[in-house]
Amino acid sequence: MFQGLKIAVKRQKKLLAIFFVTIFLPSVILSIFGIIALRNEKFRVEKQIENEQLQIANSIKDRIETKFTEIGERLENLASYPAFRQKDYTVIKELITGLFEKDSLASIIFLLYNNEEPVFSLFRTGSEENAGRPEPVYDSFLQQQIKDAEDAEYIRNDYLTAASIYNDAFRQSGNKIIKARMLNLTARNLMKAGKFNEAADVYSRIINDYPDERTEAGLPLDLYAKIQMTECYSMPGDKGSAVGNDLTVFEELLVNRWNLNESRFKTYASIVIERLTGLLSDSALESTEYLSRFEELEKRYHYRTEQWETIGNIRSYIVPELPGYFQTGSRSPSPFEFSKRVGSEDYLVLAAMIPGQSQLDNAGILAAKLDNLYLQNNILTNAVEEIKPLRNTAIYITTLSGDSIKGSKNNNPDAVTTTSLFDNNFPPWRLELTYTGPKGLGEISIFSNFYFWTIITLIIILVFGAALIARIVAREMEILKIKSDFVSSVSHEFKTPLTSMKSLTERLEEGKVTEPGKMKQYISIIANDIDRLIHLVSNILSFSKIEEGKKIYKKEKTDIVIWLKEVINNYKKENIESGIIINVQLDNNMPALHIDRDAMAQAIFNLLDNAAKFSRGKKEAEVTAERKNYSIIIKVKDKGIGIENDEKDKIFEKFYRGESALKYLIKGTGLGLALVKYTVEAHNGHIDVDSESGWSTVFTITLPVSDKK
Ligand code: ADP
Repeated sequence: MFQGLKIAVKRQKKLLAIFFVTIFLPSVILSIFGIIALRNEKFRVEKQIENEQLQIANSIKDRIETKFTEIGERLENLASYPAFRQKDYTVIKELITGLFEKDSLASIIFLLYNNEEPVFSLFRTGSEENAGRPEPVYDSFLQQQIKDAEDAEYIRNDYLTAASIYNDAFRQSGNKIIKARMLNLTARNLMKAGKFNEAADVYSRIINDYPDERTEAGLPLDLYAKIQMTECYSMPGDKGSAVGNDLTVFEELLVNRWNLNESRFKTYASIVIERLTGLLSDSALESTEYLSRFEELEKRYHYRTEQWETIGNIRSYIVPELPGYFQTGSRSPSPFEFSKRVGSEDYLVLAAMIPGQSQLDNAGILAAKLDNLYLQNNILTNAVEEIKPLRNTAIYITTLSGDSIKGSKNNNPDAVTTTSLFDNNFPPWRLELTYTGPKGLGEISIFSNFYFWTIITLIIILVFGAALIARIVAREMEILKIKSDFVSSVSHEFKTPLTSMKSLTERLEEGKVTEPGKMKQYISIIANDIDRLIHLVSNILSFSKIEEGKKIYKKEKTDIVIWLKEVINNYKKENIESGIIINVQLDNNMPALHIDRDAMAQAIFNLLDNAAKFSRGKKEAEVTAERKNYSIIIKVKDKGIGIENDEKDKIFEKFYRGESALKYLIKGTGLGLALVKYTVEAHNGHIDVDSESGWSTVFTITLPVSDKK
């Protein structure tokens, strides 16, 4: 087998070389170039995606940074007003309120002067409620009046008298503060006397006429009056007005009407909250509307307390680090950004320098702490939404400490991902953009790629080429085998009769055979052997003529019955020793046909020979001929070993020898049936086989009657 392959390959050396040089080598080289080009293409697409991602990241960052710049510029503008240098808090408050009250991003504004406590704009921090306002002088007459009133109130519990003394003092005084305070004391005594309506009237006067006056301790009188009003309503049983009044006070506390410091704010708020909780639990009250307003205010209160907490944190963690920015002696860049992690939150601060007297000095800084929730939920969300379409891009944003802010992590390790940070890490966020195309990136670039299809085509050509070469080599091997098989089988075919003839002639020559009967038998055997040899040689010669296209058929009008009988008799005569019994059944009404008698006789001879060869034990054959429509049908049947189904087509191929022929060492050349087929077809007929393996075989020759050639 291996030897055969070697020889076959050697024979097709030239073809293989051509295949290698013209197909294999160029294909491999082109494929390598193609793969390189594909990789470059993938790299290019990746770069392109990365660029797109960078652009997206940049526009998100730009949108957010623009907001910061805008706030920074507003702070810078504001800080340049002289009021800031002069620490004129009234003007400062107005300016800040005007510019930042409605700003949800810059949630807490604060001022920081060198070596001073920070000042938080929307909340007063110190206890200087009366700062800048002189205490009024209480003259001796007024002092006497107050003493008399206190005697009446505290010693005699004569509240109405006390109220009327205070009321007198109110009327007689020309000082606004004193007037307001006297009204307050009048109302207090009226309440103690149970005159709630009158007290309410007096408190209303304070609220309407003296809204800016304060007690000696600095407590705003109108706040006090408003808180007392609730009592004036609730004592006589008007719970609805009481609740309404308290809700208004609560709201005013929340809008910081009185500039209270943290502890005062919390004290008054808790008074109002406690009282409202009590009043609203009264089932007699139609309270649904009140309740929802109360809940809403409580939410704002909660937010406000959080802001106080934030302010505490700014004071403790941010403020100590800021002076570095304006104590440098020369002007620091303004505005500037500052961020620091406090607890689990990143505190983001934008600040502007407050210019000092000289151009080089800084008086302090004006800063805004940004509201992180607003920044994330509004500014960032809008920024992301505005840059649609994102084209297969997933956005995942985290803080530098790893807390997720927006989106979710894409875990595909193959996806093209770009990471981007903000300038100066402000805000300290990381943007991660990932490609989430419908297909993998590789597939996209491959399938739309020219090189990919070139490589595929080359591979197909290569496979086809290789298959063709393999077929050629296999065929070459087959031919080699057929040739060698043929040579060996022909040699055997010759050898047997020749050996027999040699020994018989030797015996005759030696004169050992003297008996005439025996002698005749010997000569007859020799004659048969010679016939066999002639038959063999004529088979081979006919075959080679047919192969070369040189075979000429001499067709003569022939009576089939006579001709067939003669052929069968001849066969019998020549093959007596094979012991075959041949039954003949011929239809006498058959028309004469034009046939090449010798060629057709050879065909019948071959079929009978096979019937004898492929029968074991009892050798019996039957030859029938009949007319059927426009055909003459000649059948040669035997009861031999039969033919397997899968061999039925192959047996007519030249040189083909059946499995069983080889197995039972039945001699032959594989030319017999091929020759029969050629001959029958040369007479415009056809041959078929029908066989039951192990039992019988029937060959049917069909010849057309109308054929006159
Ligand atoms: P050969 O007889 O020399 O082998 P043939 O061309 O005459 O070659 O036949 C081809 C093959 O067909 C045989 O080898 C045999 O396997 C099969 N064959 C032909 N005739 C018969 C038959 N009558 N019975 C069984 N097998 C047959």
